[in-house]
Order: sequence, then structure tokens, then C-alpha cells
Amino acid sequence: MSNSRKVSRVILSQIASDGAGVKLRRSIGGEQLSELDPFLLLDNFGTENPDDYIAGFPSHPHRGFETVTYMIDGQMRHKDSTGAEGILGPGSVQWMTAGRGIVHSEMPEQREGRMSGFQLWVNLPASDKMCVPRYQNIDPEDVPLVELGTTKLRVLAGAVTGPDGIVSGPVKGVATDPIYIDITLAKGGSYHHAVPEGHTAFIYVFEGNVDVGGTELKQHHLAILSDGDSVDLKAKTGGRAILVAGRPIGEPVARYGPFVMNSHEEIQQAVQDFQSGNF
Ligand code: MN
Repeated sequence: MSNSRKVSRVILSQIASDGAGVKLRRSIGGEQLSELDPFLLLDNFGTENPDDYIAGFPSHPHRGFETVTYMIDGQMRHKDSTGAEGILGPGSVQWMTAGRGIVHSEMPEQREGRMSGFQLWVNLPASDKMCVPRYQNIDPEDVPLVELGTTKLRVLAGAVTGPDGIVSGPVKGVATDPIYIDITLAKGGSYHHAVPEGHTAFIYVFEGNVDVGGTELKQHHLAILSDGDSVDLKAKTGGRAILVAGRPIGEPVARYGPFVMNSHEEIQQAVQDFQSGNF
């Protein structure tokens, strides 16, 4: 018997600013929802106005968790303290496991035009917080597009059952066993997705309206899902959303800006290591 998840809470993302003044909408990690274990932050950026993004995210550190960038429109240049550098363009994904520490920048590679996408922060269990930093940089053509009738799925992480069998996303080996799927529903469209019981799961609607387990969700709203083994989406008029899920970690969270550890002492160590150039 299927036990479809329902909406347990709805949050309207709030306009916020980060980096050197990039305007975005924050849901997780804001005042209404400081965290949703294992997720620490969700920002949705989306604008035609260069003033909202041109300042970018100059050099900054991370330790103890993962940052996931999913570009939908526009181009960002990424550079880090290991010497790695690259362009994130429309449809590309960067799953960065900061582990024991990385310093990087994310700056717009355009002076005009639309820039949109998401940044998600995923926590790491204590055993992985000080791991060697790791990148999974995924080009747009390596993110599978699955079409089920009028429903279009971009599979970043996790798996979907397509017309020709199971299709898995390119992101692998992540501690929280995540699902990350970009779902486009046409007018009258629907989609059913299996989500492991016990996983934390949410839906964020970024275009149109989407009905999630019987609750109508408007643009810029995030729905936290109750437990269950799946989720059912429908769209009366059409919409686009991300479905994200992951296994909760269940450990204490000590958080100070870009450092997320288990204790205050570990945060002090992170600040000290960063200030003394040990990232
Ligand atoms: Mn960053």
C-alpha cells in the first residue's frame, strides 16, 4: 500500500541578500526555518536585473557541510583555494563537499540577462566533517532529462523510472543519500515519486502552481512533507518545482556563518584555522 506524503508545513521564501549583495529568496536557513535536518539552507536566485547579481559571491570559506549549486539561467565563474576554476552554465550542477575547508568565489560571468538557480546547503555527519574537500562538477548534458508524457524531469541526484527503465542522477557517494529532481508539469500534468521512509523531504515551487499531496502551492513557497514512501504532484495550470530529500543526520548543529560543526569548540577551531590560513 502506498503511503503518499502530505504537506506538513508551508513557508513563503523571504527576500534576502548574501555574498556582496546578491538578491535572492531564502526559505531554509531564514528566520522561519533555521534548518531542516540534513538541509541547512535553500536560496533561490532569479532575476533579469544585473544589479541583483552583479556583485556576486567574492572569496569566502566553508567547512563541515556541502554546498550544491544548480544553475537554471545564466553563467557563474567558480574559483577555489585548490586552484580549481570553471564556469557553471544553464543546467549545470556543482555538488561541493567542503569537508575540512575550502575558500572559493562564485562570480557572475555576464553583465546582463537573466540569472537564476538554487543554492542548497547539506549537512555532513560528524565522521565526514573534516574529510578532504571534493567536487562533483556536472555539465548540463550529464544531467538526465526524462520525459513521462508531458512531465519533464531533470535528475540531479536519486533515480526515476523513465519510459526505458531506471535513470539515475550523476551525483554519487553523498552521505545523506539525497534526491534532487527538477520537475516541470504541464497544464493538467502529474507525477508520482518514491521517497524513502524516514528521509526529510521538501518541494520548492519556482514557476506557476503545483499541487503537492492535495495542497496547492504557489510560486516561491516551500512545502515540508510528512513522512511516507512517496509524493504525488499535480498541476492545474502548469508549474515547476524541485523535489529534494535526504536522510536526517540527527546530531547537534553548531553554526557560525559558513562553518557548520557539532560543537562551539569546533567552530572556534574553524575560525582559527581559517584566520591562520589553514584551509
Ligand atoms: Mn560558497
